[in-house]
Amino acid sequence: MQPDTILTANKSLRDNNLHRLLNLIRLNGEISRPTLSTASGLSPATVLALTNKLSERGLIIEKGTANALRGRRPALLALNPADSYAIGLMIREYETVGSIINLHGSIIASLHWNLNLAEQSEHTIVCIGKLVEELISQNQVTCENIIGIGCAVSGYVDSQNGICVDSWQLGWHNFALGPLLSEYLHMPVLVSSNVSCISCYENLFGRGQTYQNFLTVALGRGLGLGIVLNGEMYSGSTGGAGEFGHTVAVVDGRRCECGNRGCLEEYVAHRGIIATYSELLQAGGFSQSEPTLEQLLQSPPDDQMASLALRKAGRLFGAGLANIVNLFNPECIIITGEGIEYGERFFDPTLQMLQEQAFSRLASSLPIILEPWSGYESWTRGAGALVLSQLLFTPAK
Ligand SMILES: [Zn+2]
Repeated sequence: MQPDTILTANKSLRDNNLHRLLNLIRLNGEISRPTLSTASGLSPATVLALTNKLSERGLIIEKGTANALRGRRPALLALNPADSYAIGLMIREYETVGSIINLHGSIIASLHWNLNLAEQSEHTIVCIGKLVEELISQNQVTCENIIGIGCAVSGYVDSQNGICVDSWQLGWHNFALGPLLSEYLHMPVLVSSNVSCISCYENLFGRGQTYQNFLTVALGRGLGLGIVLNGEMYSGSTGGAGEFGHTVAVVDGRRCECGNRGCLEEYVAHRGIIATYSELLQAGGFSQSEPTLEQLLQSPPDDQMASLALRKAGRLFGAGLANIVNLFNPECIIITGEGIEYGERFFDPTLQMLQEQAFSRLASSLPIILEPWSGYESWTRGAGALVLSQLLFTPAK
């Protein structure tokens, strides 16, 4: 497959039609050319020419035939899961995981390396590049089969230019990850915040498929927000939208790693909830070393200090959700991340607070989906979905 012709940013009408047809095939699973023609508004001759092109490039296959009242039964077209792939990378300061993702958003293979990437240098680019090369060679895939590389990183990312503007966890500031890695690998490289990647996955393949306007909240080591408006990702004028974790929850509150005070993340993400638990233990005269998240989450239900810490954090999180509901009036909120493990001692107060604080009836029939967390695969398949979303499929729906 020669990816450049369909994948260029040069969106001629013809290219847009290729993307549109590919997306219609994705949304329908299997679809005949006549139905594609009706759904797209393109003439049967154009649909035939463009689908032949998609087939030549290995992106679609014929899969059985459709029923027909009379005459020849038309072939059904489907995405080809065994030719073209995206690679999704989860990049953290001490570990990087790469996964090969097929056009259905499923992970084919993954590679996990412990890499110290807490510096923005050529060494970092070489380490990530070698992981990608090893992942490709281990799985008998050729570079021609790879549509592009998606990188999920924490912090504020200028996705347009592939620049990690500020990642406090990685210690990267104005790091041109995308261009440098693209130069090393000779492949398209896209970079986005990890919650935006997850949001891309939800939009293309996950629970967001049936919604036009929904929010994805990732709670764990940090707190981020992915925004889908009118079926498309919204990332703000410079890519900084969705910094939910750095909205102010407590004026003059705890110092956040971003440098500001009182950010919501400092109260509901891992370090925040542990800090609250620790403060409660100290105030209660239980002098002990800093508790761990495991101790908090594995505490028995009648452990009052642990339950209070979870309740306090859950209420603040619920107030935060009410704020974003009031701002966006979404059709649905998907909550995911390692923080799903906080359990009902956290989420019951969250949902109660959301109902209490949301304006008028904005939250009264709002679906809140607690999406189980699949560990690093949630990040990598999200990063792969970013590539598929931007380079193959036009904005869904
Ligand atoms: Zn902050």
